[in-house]
Amino acid sequence: MSDFETRRKKLRSLTKKAGIGALLVTDFTNVTYLTGFTGDSSYLLLMPQGEVILSDSRYTVQLAEECPGLDVESRTSATPMLKLIEKVVRRGKLARLGFEAASMTVAEHSAIANVLVKTELVATTGLVEQLRMIKDRDEISELRIAVKFAERAFAVIRNALRPDQTEREIAFNLEHQIRQFGGDACAFKPIVACGPRAALPHAIPTDRRVEESGFLLIDWGALSPKGYRSDLTRVLITGKISPKLERIYRVVLKAQQRAIAKIRPGVPASDVDAAARNVIAKEGFGKYFGHGLGHGVGLDIHEEPRLSKSNSQPLKPGMVITIEPGIYLPGFGGVRIEDDVLVTRDGHEVLTSVPKRWDEAVAVA
Ligand code: ZN
Ligand code: ZN
Repeated sequence: MSDFETRRKKLRSLTKKAGIGALLVTDFTNVTYLTGFTGDSSYLLLMPQGEVILSDSRYTVQLAEECPGLDVESRTSATPMLKLIEKVVRRGKLARLGFEAASMTVAEHSAIANVLVKTELVATTGLVEQLRMIKDRDEISELRIAVKFAERAFAVIRNALRPDQTEREIAFNLEHQIRQFGGDACAFKPIVACGPRAALPHAIPTDRRVEESGFLLIDWGALSPKGYRSDLTRVLITGKISPKLERIYRVVLKAQQRAIAKIRPGVPASDVDAAARNVIAKEGFGKYFGHGLGHGVGLDIHEEPRLSKSNSQPLKPGMVITIEPGIYLPGFGGVRIEDDVLVTRDGHEVLTSVPKRWDEAVAVA
């Protein structure tokens, strides 16, 4: 059985438990996860009697290549997706049809409800996402590839760092290097933020030059050929800095290490968050760490589980999560350190390995 078949089998038992025999998967990332198909505009219909992918003629060849053996119902440009759904649901005589409430639009829902009057539409949330939380062996090796591309690219741009480079130039070089090493793209738009700009957790790269401040925050990742993402953050010292920066750097690093040390199966996500948050609070920076500690990473850059105060869900082997505490001082700058961590059967493995000791952060003498 292929990984995709295994995933669909697991989903089938989840839908059964949820009391719906059939599920229309409309989230394209979920469709990719369940079938291996990397295109878009296509849905997967899971029924008691089998599965069918609802797609269009542009993808005929790609579907045959990427998911051989899977039933395909293809439409032409003259036939809307709604017609295809109607046809397959009627043929399957489905009394109840689950749909993904987080993905289907209200317009689509009412259009389907209007034509399929004999089928009860049942809202579901998180069924596929629940499966995606636990990575299988293939996914873990794909995540390792995404990490490798990101780390190689970073090493190159770090060595080439010059005082006259702008945030935008560095972001561009990072993307170029990721592609050069074999990545499909950046996992997301890189954040490159000099000095005070680093106080913005989601800073957009500008024309500010490295030499205008003494330090630089870079948050980046790579997209692997099969669609998996890595996510890292490092702060580099590029000039004269105030002792305060060193202090917050050391606090953030300590908070991150405390949190990582906590990671093992059975530990509530909120406990890992608390381990980092307590360190930062004790040092007096509690109110400057406004976001959650981290998130799952996989086909999407942000996925389940979320590591926050309010999520007490226990960690499980196979989860891959980011650990990214930060301290952000408006007008001064910020420090965030982020690594990707796999929950193993008896603890954890940090998948990322870019140096992060304070003395290793100095990039331009
Ligand atoms: Zn990040
Ligand atoms: Zn992140």
